Amino acid sequence: MSPSGTPTENGKFFQAALDYKHGFREPSRIQVYRKLRKGIWVDMGFYDLIDAYEKNDQKRKVFKFLLKPKIDLNQDDQEYLDMLHNRQIPGEVQKEVYERDRGKCRICGSSDNLHFDHILPFSKGGSSKVASNIQLLCARHNLKKGAKFI
Ligand SMILES: [Zn+2]
Repeated sequence: MSPSGTPTENGKFFQAALDYKHGFREPSRIQVYRKLRKGIWVDMGFYDLIDAYEKNDQKRKVFKFLLKPKIDLNQDDQEYLDMLHNRQIPGEVQKEVYERDRGKCRICGSSDNLHFDHILPFSKGGSSKVASNIQLLCARHNLKKGAKFI
């Protein structure tokens, strides 16, 4: 809880995970970003939030969350690995896009919290393998765009 008594972001995640565990709700769908280097994030796709626990560090309480990749369990492993692999933007494409867009958001020119964004979304058949389908967007513009497609 925050000092004003409302749940913190971690608190909301924690409650959602417990509610799922106790059968009160479907798992929360979480979009995961991996930090590539300072200020640059890669979209790793959607995961189900399925469990949470607290761990006591020496000084503070740390929340741990368990995420499961969103996949159809009937898919075989190879299909799943292909899906993960295809969604990932290869290092050389990331580098090409980063240099082409000069390390800045294509919309506003910000160089903070940049994300590699699929111009045609992966879920709609957009490729991760060609720089022409990938652009750099700041977190603000990436989220704005995402809301349109989800
Ligand atoms: Zn921007």
